[in-house]
Amino acid sequence: MNTMKLCCLNQSHLKNLKHELQVLHEQLLADLQAEQSDQKEELRLVSCTEVLDRSEAAAATDLNLTRLSHIKQLEEEILECRNALQRIECGRYGCCENCGEVIELNRLMANPAAVLCVGCQSRDELHRTRDSASSF
Ligand SMILES: [Zn+2]
Repeated sequence: MNTMKLCCLNQSHLKNLKHELQVLHEQLLADLQAEQSDQKEELRLVSCTEVLDRSEAAAATDLNLTRLSHIKQLEEEILECRNALQRIECGRYGCCENCGEVIELNRLMANPAAVLCVGCQSRDELHRTRDSASSF
């Protein structure tokens, strides 16, 4: 019988997950920097081109919007990584931020930055899908 709920994973799991988070964090930062420099280059090109017809301008704006949303997504993922690393530091890593239940190890292995348990995550996604569906 094992009814004890531990918020801490074992040390070797934690060490591996922490390492993965750090690697992921580095990758995300590199991606973000690449995106940002591409974006600057595009903005420069757009502002240099004085005779830009409407469709070209629209295409450039579309491209920029796509890039902006990608940049925003990268920034969010970076924050999640930092958040998870902080949680490791203060010993709260591995517990659901919403209900406080232990997050399954498999889930953390698949996504070390996960802060919600499977139950809370699926409810959260359900809300999001509904929200984005109703905004159209
Ligand atoms: Zn939960």
